Amino acid sequence: PARPHRNLVYPSSMAPLHKHNSSIRIMQWNILAQALGEGKDGFIRCPLDALNWEERKYLILEEILTYSPDILCLQEVDHYYDTFQPIMASLGYQGSFLAKPWSPCLDVAQNNGPDGCALFYRRSRFSLQATAHLRLSAMMLPTNQVAIVQTLSCRATGRQLCVAVTHLKARSGWERLRSVQGADLLQSLRSITSQGGPSSPEEGAGPVPLVVCGDFNAEPSEDVYRRFSSSTLRLDSAYKMLSSDGETEPAYTSWKIRPSGESCSTLDYIWYTHDALSVDCLLDIPTEEQIGPDRLPSYHYPSDHLSLLCDLSFREGPHMLM
Ligand code: NDP
Ligand code: CA
Repeated sequence: PARPHRNLVYPSSMAPLHKHNSSIRIMQWNILAQALGEGKDGFIRCPLDALNWEERKYLILEEILTYSPDILCLQEVDHYYDTFQPIMASLGYQGSFLAKPWSPCLDVAQNNGPDGCALFYRRSRFSLQATAHLRLSAMMLPTNQVAIVQTLSCRATGRQLCVAVTHLKARSGWERLRSVQGADLLQSLRSITSQGGPSSPEEGAGPVPLVVCGDFNAEPSEDVYRRFSSSTLRLDSAYKMLSSDGETEPAYTSWKIRPSGESCSTLDYIWYTHDALSVDCLLDIPTEEQIGPDRLPSYHYPSDHLSLLCDLSFREGPHMLM
């Protein structure tokens, strides 16, 4: 079946400026671990065929290639070494993968290894300055959730950008753990972005602008969301720009039906430093009709989470180069 079309939306405040040659395209996507989709999730309205990896992987890759992001942040990757790493490398991307310490995929018979987070950047556009592989902590204790943080340098301008990808603890009842994991990640990000790289052309120009992509497993009403939106890192959530008031998150980024019932929720976010970066455009969210009565995943949509995509530009400022 044909892929449902999604429009790029240019927020009204940005309309005249919308084609930035220099904008950086970011994609955030929980692609649904193959072992969890087939073995654990219980998506009762999704045909088993639609979960067949040999077909589903092409839908995932097609979606990535259609939008051709400069930076790709993925969660629930359990086919990194045999699929995403080699294919993305052949397309000019550099990848990094960090498995969850106790991935639930390992409980599934004939699994393909642990799932984890992956971060890819376009090699022609960026060079790597630093990588941190983090295991998120709660009250000093290590948890089962991870993050990758990379400081990149834009080859054309020398500007630095710090990018992070994470996947916080799932399920209701774990709001407090998510909040503490978020606090731990913010603390690490404060430390990483305050330093700047050794080859920074803007020495002393302030902290490195930041993009944080993730499946936070948290609605906007949760404490971890409040922590991110009010942090001293001055982060804003890109997808609020899709709403008419610019203040409201989408109604859903994930929509699925399990034996326990239907779950329609906003869990995924692209955070960005709002005084250093601006949102030029966003990929719209499919309507309920496009998603269809059996919800996600499906023959049309390979994951129970929707991909998020936005173009970000560096704001011009007297202290900034170019
Ligand atoms: P999480 O609770 O964070 O969830 C793991 C995955 O399950 C996520 O990918 C999540 O998807 C998905 N999920 C969420 N809700 C449901 C649901 N209702 N039904 C089915 N799947 C769901 O897992 P943890 O990282 O805390 O890992 C727990 C697992 O780790 C255990 O099941 C066990 O197998 C394993 N384990 C852990 C040990 C440990 O010390 N922590 C030791 C040994 C094993 P999404 O994010 O999309 O919602
Ligand atoms: Ca999942």
